[in-house]
Amino acid sequence: MVLGVLELEQVKKSYPESPGRRLEVLDIEHFSLACGEQIALEGRSGSGKSTLLHVLSGITSPDSGRVILDGIELGKLSEAHRDRVRADKLGMVFQSFNLLPGFTALENVLVAMSFGSGKADRRRAIDLLSAVGLEHRLSHRPAALSMGEQQRVAVARAIANRPRVVLADEPTASVDPSNQRTVVELLKKTCRDHGSALLIVTHSPEVASQFEVRVRIEDFNRVFARSMAASIATNIE
Ligand code: ADP
Ligand code: MG
Repeated sequence: MVLGVLELEQVKKSYPESPGRRLEVLDIEHFSLACGEQIALEGRSGSGKSTLLHVLSGITSPDSGRVILDGIELGKLSEAHRDRVRADKLGMVFQSFNLLPGFTALENVLVAMSFGSGKADRRRAIDLLSAVGLEHRLSHRPAALSMGEQQRVAVARAIANRPRVVLADEPTASVDPSNQRTVVELLKKTCRDHGSALLIVTHSPEVASQFEVRVRIEDFNRVFARSMAASIATNIE
């Protein structure tokens, strides 16, 4: 069997809800992202999309099951080792960008590079920012950039360490509609140019329609199937 660049096996994740009770959020038998693949992940609000991305990225540990990034099982690593693997192999783009407010666009990319195993390469950081159309905004801090520009810095930062995988959680949610398509095209192109796989979470059908492969979390998260069955049973009673 050919392993995907990101694999999830028998993963369960729940959160404490009230004393003695846990809210089950994920129960996924298998999920796989192939090398260089680009997938849009859709699903209604609260269906576990962000939780899935946090588990896939190793930000959150699952209750049980395995997450395998580029052949490395994240759960078997020490926290420090996991952070390093994550910085090298994974780029993330968030809805709220998570740029460092005290640093310029260029410094934000350089800081991301310094977390990986390579060196912080100023020339390459400038090239990356130029590739996303920000060569004239290198020394601007996030507060002095538009939402669309901030998201483009986040895209350049995500790709800084030539990751195997880019995970994007509703990356266009704070970008005005006229720029949403551009940001998504930019993410797709940047990932293609660097050979990174891309998994993008969105609840926007317009954004999802920019992808050939679209999957719905409700179709493979068994927690959802169970809660549907329970509500159907309650309605019948
Ligand atoms: P989505 O991204 O699809 O909207 P989330 O993964 O953010 O969904 O959340 C799934 C469910 O888990 C929601 O019901 C949410 O309230 C709950 N949840 C998310 N994070 C936490 C947390 N840290 N503690 C407790 N419950 C959480
Ligand atoms: Mg979410």
